[in-house]
Amino acid sequence: MTLARRISKPVQVGSVTVGGGAPVVVQSMTNTDTRDAAATVRQIKELEEAGCEIVRVAVPDAEAAAALPAIKRGISIPLVADIHFDYRLALASIRAGVDGLRLNPGNIGGAERVRAVALAAKERQVPIRIGLNAGSLPKTETPGLSVAQRMVESALGEIKLLESLDFDLIKVSLKAFDVPTTIAAYAEIAARIPYPLHIGITEAGPPRTGLVRSSVGLGTLLYMGIGDTIRVSLTAHPREEVFAAFEILKSLDLRQHGPVLVSCPTCGRTEVDIIGLAEAVEKELHRISKPVKVAVMGCAVNGPGEAKDADVGIACGKGRGILFKKGEKIGVVEEKDFLTALMREVERL
Ligand code: SF4
Repeated sequence: MTLARRISKPVQVGSVTVGGGAPVVVQSMTNTDTRDAAATVRQIKELEEAGCEIVRVAVPDAEAAAALPAIKRGISIPLVADIHFDYRLALASIRAGVDGLRLNPGNIGGAERVRAVALAAKERQVPIRIGLNAGSLPKTETPGLSVAQRMVESALGEIKLLESLDFDLIKVSLKAFDVPTTIAAYAEIAARIPYPLHIGITEAGPPRTGLVRSSVGLGTLLYMGIGDTIRVSLTAHPREEVFAAFEILKSLDLRQHGPVLVSCPTCGRTEVDIIGLAEAVEKELHRISKPVKVAVMGCAVNGPGEAKDADVGIACGKGRGILFKKGEKIGVVEEKDFLTALMREVERL
């Protein structure tokens, strides 16, 4: 089943198209000190390897802005500068050759400054993401609005400001920690603007809780056809955000990226360490880029049948396991060879 997606205006972020029916783009943000260009480039290379397609770096001061050209030279994916309050940092980032900005025009200090940034961005065709977070909304004139409505109202105000300067290279995000608030805000804005939406759940937490929160929120939005680019915010190495984003997109058949691992939950029939094996296989699969489905099952009774749509799999019993391809047995392996034999078959595919 193919999900219907909201039609949005395409916006170019360097070489990557966001919106306009393009595949949902996966992005992340570095947590290195941007002033340390070498460390930031190193981390971005790790993110590129994980499949990250756009990367954002914080630009908190002039020294960070000064590091942007070196960062840009060292990486292959589009670079977005995250700016708060200081329009001079936005201008410096544009001059440094960034591919996108994330800022809120309303908080960079007045009409003239917004105009200067919009002009410079337009000249270099650098898009601006208006990024509203529920925790830092400006005061509203309209009484009685919910948080989601306030987010939408603020975003519409920011958009109007840029449009009044004839600037339309716009993306929008409306992130909250609260999932229903996030969904309500995105659903409302999706119907009211043509621009592509960057979706995320903010401050989602460490992996265990953050993954669930992000998957529920982002999964619901994507299922509704909303979202042109996605960031999973986790209190973890940003590489984990990229893996998680792809898993969410893969689970909705919106993207194909690397292998899918199927593994059984284990039960009273399990006689070997399936949890350990599945974890080891998952780790090994990180270096594989082909979109293959791999199964690790805990018994020969139900295993091959339950995972018959897997390209390759193993059903493990005490001391021995059955290797299978598309549900058909192709060999028997000793327990000590479970991992290597399975990975050998994956490589062969
Ligand atoms: S595959 Fe076998 S061991 Fe795994 S949950 Fe199913 S019945 Fe239990």
